Amino acid sequence: MATSVDSLDSFDTGRLPAAPPGPVPWVAMYHSVGDCSDDPYRITATPERLEEQLAWLRRRGLRGVSVADLLAARARGDGRHLVGLTFDDGYADFVTDALPLLRRWDCGATLFVLPGRLGGDNAWDPLGPRKPLLTAAGIRYAAAEGVEIGSHGLTHVDLTRADDLALKAEVAESRERLAELTGTRIDGFCYPYGTVDARAVRAVREAGYAYACAIDPGPLTGPHALPRVHIGQNDTAWRLRLKHRLHRLRRRPVEGR
Ligand SMILES: [Zn+2]
Repeated sequence: MATSVDSLDSFDTGRLPAAPPGPVPWVAMYHSVGDCSDDPYRITATPERLEEQLAWLRRRGLRGVSVADLLAARARGDGRHLVGLTFDDGYADFVTDALPLLRRWDCGATLFVLPGRLGGDNAWDPLGPRKPLLTAAGIRYAAAEGVEIGSHGLTHVDLTRADDLALKAEVAESRERLAELTGTRIDGFCYPYGTVDARAVRAVREAGYAYACAIDPGPLTGPHALPRVHIGQNDTAWRLRLKHRLHRLRRRPVEGR
């Protein structure tokens, strides 16, 4: 779920004992793409806005890719011109509204889905309009189109409040179910609501994920708690420029300081 935009850029790598070399990767967080007239949680961007944002990236010589591709490029010492694009929850509108635009602008993406709610809706958002989630066939279609499929847990629960049994099921079982559903290895996890603690990070690492996305994980930042920047309907070109610049300033590595 989205949190306040202002809190999302507030992370400072200067507090970290071991910041990774190079700027912290820029990973954008989207949810739904469609009509945003009734959107109390600010999780929706219109297709027109998404297209503007993808065009803006390309104009600046940047390209959106999946988080797995972004991390692989960075591991090769590459990837400075890549931006991670993530879509949480696995809304059905990803296939109808986001995917055609990603294709048009030659971008990849990671889609974090909930294998415990296939074909269901966002019942965890009490105020929001009900939005349908992808079915198993829809997720397979996205995967076949080259979209990286990651896990968002089974049913969208706050892992910091889950007991041991639920934590394991949400993290490990969701990975197994998605591997079966897509026929591929599932490398990425995404914490529901962005809430994360050391116990959740450990569970995600032990379940075999290569990385995990959070929102603003502070001192937990690392491959299994990657910060992301909320990008929404209000993010016109100049706001994107500001967010991108702030990210580069605030998340600059601290070597030599
Ligand atoms: Zn979510």
